[in-house]
Amino acid sequence: MRTDYAVIGGGLAGMAVAYHLARDGGADVVVLEQGEVNAAASGNNSGSFHAQIPVEPFLNQGEDWARRFAPTLRLMMAGIARWHELPGELDAPGMEVTAKGGIMVARHPAELDMLRRKSAIERSEGLDTRLLDRDELRSLAPYLAEDAIGGAFCPIEGKANPLTATFAFARAAVAQGVRIRSHMAATGMQRDGDGWLVATAGGTLRARRVVNCAGASAGEVAAWVGVDLPIEAHPIQVTVTERVAPLIPHLVYSAADRLSLKQTRQGSIIIGGGWPARLHPASGRPVVSMESLVPNLRLAMAAVPAVARLRVVRSWAAIVNGTQDWRPILGEIPGAAGVFLCFFPWMGFTAGPHVARLVAKVALGRSPEAAREIAAFAPGAA
Ligand SMILES: Cc1cc2nc3c(=O)[nH]c(=O)nc-3n(C[C@H](O)[C@H](O)[C@H](O)COP(=O)(O)OP(=O)(O)OC[C@H]3O[C@@H](n4cnc5c(N)ncnc54)[C@H](O)[C@@H]3O)c2cc1C
Repeated sequence: MRTDYAVIGGGLAGMAVAYHLARDGGADVVVLEQGEVNAAASGNNSGSFHAQIPVEPFLNQGEDWARRFAPTLRLMMAGIARWHELPGELDAPGMEVTAKGGIMVARHPAELDMLRRKSAIERSEGLDTRLLDRDELRSLAPYLAEDAIGGAFCPIEGKANPLTATFAFARAAVAQGVRIRSHMAATGMQRDGDGWLVATAGGTLRARRVVNCAGASAGEVAAWVGVDLPIEAHPIQVTVTERVAPLIPHLVYSAADRLSLKQTRQGSIIIGGGWPARLHPASGRPVVSMESLVPNLRLAMAAVPAVARLRVVRSWAAIVNGTQDWRPILGEIPGAAGVFLCFFPWMGFTAGPHVARLVAKVALGRSPEAAREIAAFAPGAA
């Protein structure tokens, strides 16, 4: 089999890259997916659009970390703007793109102080985050607990439906001629003249260019071309409640610990925030951890007391792609001309459609602007 571009991975990144390579560059594209499309992180996440600096690394790694991370916020802001274009462009109203804003809720003065310091860094990158006092918070979000003393509000934050988004890209990509090969793992790669030979479970694929969109496995794929990247895989979990009448329009966070909470268009409350799951000792698959479930739900009830009345319907676990510094890795791999990486850790649902378009433009070799936008995130960049 031959193609212009082999895309490894059929998650949000891979499908969006494939769509743009074909639509914007008229390229012949084959997507190799070892399992099913959208069956990994992209289809199992919480569907939040994050723009604020996350609390956990800010508390653990401090303000120097936050300043180094801060340029990433521009990709997240552009990512959210891109999401609003997608339902129309892909003819996919089922993506359920909504942005009513996100609130990080503080219950203690030290938390408010942390939000003040964090928000100053966010604003320096052009992100609109506003500190709210108790009265402002109550009038914006009367469903929050009475002991909330203030918060940080970011108007662009919101959500979309992870069960539909990647498939919308996949349908649009196929309409552009992209060939998707599910249950066909890439197993190795070697240079072949000015292109690459990709070994797959179904034979060898010759490609002029390769885009590595393998999510949590992107480090293993990069190792095939001799590059060691600091890519991590972490099992984390999410919980969903029964449906209730509209109650929570915002994305809600806690300034104290890991919490994200929002209500879907169907009425369920999705509770996450990145609490660790376990790996099943026999299968190695991610499974829900009770040690995480209880504190995660406790935080949710502390932020929004009405959640305590609801029945939990399901909790699930999946592997998130991570890096220690939370920065994405985007662009051509040094020493492996023609191999590109599209990797956005922890919050790759938010930024995925935007960074995929940038990486596709760079892989097509037609956009110096896109190359400049991702230069700071190049593989191997400090
Ligand atoms: C529980 C959970 C909650 C999350 N919540 C949010 C959130 O609310 N907001 C947010 O912005 N982000 C969130 N994320 C992160 C986000 O889901 C991911 O960063 C994003 O989906 C990564 O997309 P991807 O396409 O790069 O990776 P994936 O969706 O993991 O796709 C990678 C694909 O590559 C395939 N693959 C790997 N190796 C090979 C190979 N050798 N050959 C062929 N195929 C291969 C895999 O099978 C997989 O399908 C969450 C993640 C998890 C797990």
